[in-house]
Amino acid sequence: MGNGSPGDGTGIQAEPGKLRVQSAAAHSRVHVAAAAVLFPLRLSCPWGTPKTTSISCSLADVMSEQLAKELQLEEENAAFPEVVAVAEGPFITGENVDTSSDLMLAQMLQMEFDREYDAQLRREEKKFNGDSKVSISFENYRKVHPFDSDSSEDEVDWQDTRHDPYRADKPTITPKKGFIGKGKDITTKHDEVVCGRKNTARMENFAPEFQVGDGIGMDLKLSNQVFNALKQHAYSEERRSARLHEKKEHSTAEKAVDPKTRLLLYKMVSGGMLETITGCISTGKESVVFHAYGGKSATEEDKIIPPECAIKVFKTTLNEFKNRDKYIKDDYRFKDRFSKLNPRKIIRMWAEKEMHNLTRMQNAGIPCPQVVILKKHVLVMSFIGQDQVPAPKLKDVKLNSEDMKKAYYQVLNMMQQLYKECNLVHADLSEYNMLWHDGKVWLIDVSQSVEPTHPHGLEFLFRDCRNVSQFFQKGGVVEALNERQLFNAVSGLNITAENEVDFQAEFFQKGGVVEALNERQLFNAVSGLNITAENEVDFQAE
Ligand code: ADP
Ligand code: MN
Repeated sequence: MGNGSPGDGTGIQAEPGKLRVQSAAAHSRVHVAAAAVLFPLRLSCPWGTPKTTSISCSLADVMSEQLAKELQLEEENAAFPEVVAVAEGPFITGENVDTSSDLMLAQMLQMEFDREYDAQLRREEKKFNGDSKVSISFENYRKVHPFDSDSSEDEVDWQDTRHDPYRADKPTITPKKGFIGKGKDITTKHDEVVCGRKNTARMENFAPEFQVGDGIGMDLKLSNQVFNALKQHAYSEERRSARLHEKKEHSTAEKAVDPKTRLLLYKMVSGGMLETITGCISTGKESVVFHAYGGKSATEEDKIIPPECAIKVFKTTLNEFKNRDKYIKDDYRFKDRFSKLNPRKIIRMWAEKEMHNLTRMQNAGIPCPQVVILKKHVLVMSFIGQDQVPAPKLKDVKLNSEDMKKAYYQVLNMMQQLYKECNLVHADLSEYNMLWHDGKVWLIDVSQSVEPTHPHGLEFLFRDCRNVSQFFQKGGVVEALNERQLFNAVSGLNITAENEVDFQAEFFQKGGVVEALNERQLFNAVSGLNITAENEVDFQAE
């Protein structure tokens, strides 16, 4: 406009009504001239001049109207404060929702929408059927089905992941001298490509909240400058988020649960399996346990949901699990899978293990939580305790001598049952993993339990026996067997050695463990000494 292109002319002819506006807008002589040619008689618009509408209220009026509106709003807010849903847990109210995870937000919104849709559908169904004896169900039209199990595409099964594209290849290290190679193939530590790749790999070490994208999969090369800027940003981001967390009074749930887990929990609630998740009972190194009220709808296997549930979330931060390899790697039940797994899947395996072990114990009638459902790394089981208060651990409860004795005999009995009927060794049995509830001892925390034939099975059993025997002896139970007697009583092996070293050597042989250390090796292992002599005489001399 305004530069008098020929297009203007046709525009004027086609829409003469706009002429005034256009020519007025563009203060150009060309336009005025064009108008004069087209409408030689009148310079004004042939459709008449629009009346200037008089403004009926003054600025002061408008202002006071706004003021009135504001005052009313204020009043309303005071009269009807926003209702806060107290009954719902932090996941459900959404106050802790991580807004960086748009996918999750979208999914949550969708789920909310679907639920509203279903509610409407239910009303229609009711209206449609009326009092009729024969009714037609709209069930199939519903969007939300009672906890639809594994619809999510991120379900990873026990498949091979050796070619995980997200896993960084170990960046080749440049030796101290600062270069590798020879002659013209020499690569220094300043090599752009090598350095860029290395920077990309190092980026992975930033805080987990820091979204670094999929640079590794793309063979991205980060220049030193960019990397340093990113690093600086990551650190300040980390500090900022630390401050934020402090403000939020250390909400453990938030720290412990990543968006994926939150979605998983959310699904359990929205699917009706759980009523509400009330809060966190315990945060351990490897797991976080929540309390929840059971919902009305049943699981897929039509199990009735207990009124109160415990949700054990196995932490997906991998560090803590590394030292647990020993338990699972040699468990033949998981052996052929182990070699192919990445750490994330191993964590799921812990959850799976706990489920299987609990089921075995349940079948033998040992008091323990009852499995409700397993979803990935989240295990839902019955809650031991009442009204959100978990049963105390044996270490925290003060029992009178009669109850203490009763507890001891019960534990002895359970250990035998566990060994003989369930073919299991608890492997982390102590006053920390026994709860006192309803006048008896309940066993929990069996993700690490193994079968007695596990290469370390008897070793674990011996440790369990030591814990139990010490606890009850200190607790004043005079009848309590010592660790070796208890070991024999549980395992049915009859090991007679008097001292610990011989005892362990003997149970390795009796237990038929092939990799059993010989006496000298075992002595070193137990004592921490490192005696190298080959024969017994020299060994003892040393
Ligand atoms: P961890 O590996 O962190 O020790 P546990 O299975 O021992 O995991 O659970 C940690 C704590 O959570 C327990 O000490 C207990 O207080 C509580 N807890 C776990 N499961 C239940 C349950 N089913 N009912 C009540 N409390 C439970
Ligand atoms: Mn525990």
